[in-house]
Amino acid sequence: MSEALELTRQLLRLPTVNPPGDEGSCIEPLAARLEAAGFACRRFDLAPGRPNLVARFGDPRRPALAFTGHLDTVPLGEAPWIRDPFAGEVADGRVHGRGSSDMKSGVAAIVTAACRHAAAGGSTPIEIVLTAAEETGLEGARQLAGIPQSLGRAAALVVAEPTGNLPAFGNRGTVWLEFTFEGKSAHASAPEQGVNALLGAAEAALRLAAFDGGGVRHPVLGRPSLTVSRMAAGSNFNSVPDRAVLGLDLRPLPDADLDALIGELAALAGPAARLREVVRCPGLWTDPAEPWLAAALEVVAEATGTAARQETVPFNTDAAFLTPAYGGVPTLILGPGELAQAHQTDEWCEVAKIDEAVEIYLGLMRRFR
Ligand SMILES: [Zn+2]
Repeated sequence: MSEALELTRQLLRLPTVNPPGDEGSCIEPLAARLEAAGFACRRFDLAPGRPNLVARFGDPRRPALAFTGHLDTVPLGEAPWIRDPFAGEVADGRVHGRGSSDMKSGVAAIVTAACRHAAAGGSTPIEIVLTAAEETGLEGARQLAGIPQSLGRAAALVVAEPTGNLPAFGNRGTVWLEFTFEGKSAHASAPEQGVNALLGAAEAALRLAAFDGGGVRHPVLGRPSLTVSRMAAGSNFNSVPDRAVLGLDLRPLPDADLDALIGELAALAGPAARLREVVRCPGLWTDPAEPWLAAALEVVAEATGTAARQETVPFNTDAAFLTPAYGGVPTLILGPGELAQAHQTDEWCEVAKIDEAVEIYLGLMRRFR
């Protein structure tokens, strides 16, 4: 059994379901392993027992190749599991458990490759960012990005989220907005004496749903999307509702001006609507012709024997905050987990892909300029 598989299994046996997270149970043994290999480790606590870890190897003045992964997992869901989700069972060439694909296998591959690189006297500086609370809105990465000097210098970033080891380099962002409409309550037998907040929200919902984002289109990521996803109003049948709340989900393109876009939507919702920004996460795109990424794609093709690409992922990653914090560095999303296994009951990861990811990451470390 390979070192990376053993480490994946060790991490799977330490539950880090978020909430509550308890990511320290996984991050501390990883920090010990990295320190023993010569990495300098710094912790930034999101909350007690929930550290983010920044581990650095090599000359701190030279820009590093950075890797990132999160240690929290989503809950198990209501459906029963066939296997113990916290045992790290291996069967039929797969390792099973919550977080096997998303993304303890990816973290294990990063740490295994980094320790081998250090042991072999590799010259490339490496920075590893292990985060807490990714699954609840990228909280750990968001916090790190806001702390001056928490991150070192880096020239490129690899995110080990599940892609089945196929390279991806873009995703749309996520913005959640909530609009609250106030009205005036009255008996439903005399609605003219009230102001119906629900009707104001309903009209705004239709205006918002018709918003086309200015017709913009990305050649690979396609069009932005907007979904009016929530509406709540009225506590009984016989009153004019005096408050209504609308929620919407926006998937902007990476180059969108989010301030301007949110301003346009607020204008569409109307002056009576009170805006609350719930999530604001920019999209991500690196041109595959960018020199580091182009070289990285060659390394991946050599290691996997295929030039197939995932290109885009349907989710946001910690790179939404880490990539800008590193100064907009080229970013590759590639990890051994299966994209389709993320957040699933009976989640698994192919054992061979974990070892393949170690080889890919080592190749990226060796070829880094
Ligand atoms: Zn993930």
